[in-house]
Amino acid sequence: MATEQTEAIVLRLIEFSETSLIATLYSRDLGRISAIAKGARRPKSPFDGALDLLAVCRIVVICKSSDALDLLTEAKLQRRFRAASRSLLRLNCGYYVAEVLRLWTDSGATASHPLYDLTLRTIAAIDGTEDPLFAVLRFELTGLRILGHAPATRDCVGCGTRVDTAAARIPFAYHMGGVLCPACRPRQREVASIRREVLQACTRLQDATGGPVEGVGENLYRDLRAVVSRCVCTHLGAVPRTQSLLPTKWVSH
Ligand SMILES: [Zn+2]
Repeated sequence: MATEQTEAIVLRLIEFSETSLIATLYSRDLGRISAIAKGARRPKSPFDGALDLLAVCRIVVICKSSDALDLLTEAKLQRRFRAASRSLLRLNCGYYVAEVLRLWTDSGATASHPLYDLTLRTIAAIDGTEDPLFAVLRFELTGLRILGHAPATRDCVGCGTRVDTAAARIPFAYHMGGVLCPACRPRQREVASIRREVLQACTRLQDATGGPVEGVGENLYRDLRAVVSRCVCTHLGAVPRTQSLLPTKWVSH
């Protein structure tokens, strides 16, 4: 058993007993953690309100070596996720980000500073003044890139040659993870056809370091949402439960 300190984001809370919770956290240094928070449901909890969805906290955790759950002994709130008081749309975006990050890190809890920092930036964007719908798209596409599963938007996934990106629509094979050239296209079944502008936006949104999302039109949202949802589901092999909370069309907010 080792006692570790790190910073973490709360992804899920499950009631464990009358007084305890099981917290799923994504931490900066330890990756994903599932830990018992004893006494967290008591009125005067030792965690003092830090255990809340998408809250960022400093934690102390005793890591068990076996399959047993880790033990959370301390959580000090650094930043609360306040979207619930802003709008249902922002709150739903938060639920989705928490679920996708949990599913992405389900097997193998290796830490990833880029993924941790991306999530922090996304939470701040959803909680701030940025368009939350594009912040979520950027989270998904940048996250997929960090995980090594970014959709290939320029080079053919069959042979690696540069695809003619001047065409209005470009063949895209979800099961292969990207675009196809004219030579590889006939050999594949279930190939979608995606507008060039949508693929260009996918490329731009794979880089979350560039500050607020700019230059991506609201008129592209509907197609982008459909493409990115399918990329996320194909990679996970499942549909995130909260994906249905995201609007399929851009809505004013
Ligand atoms: Zn090819």
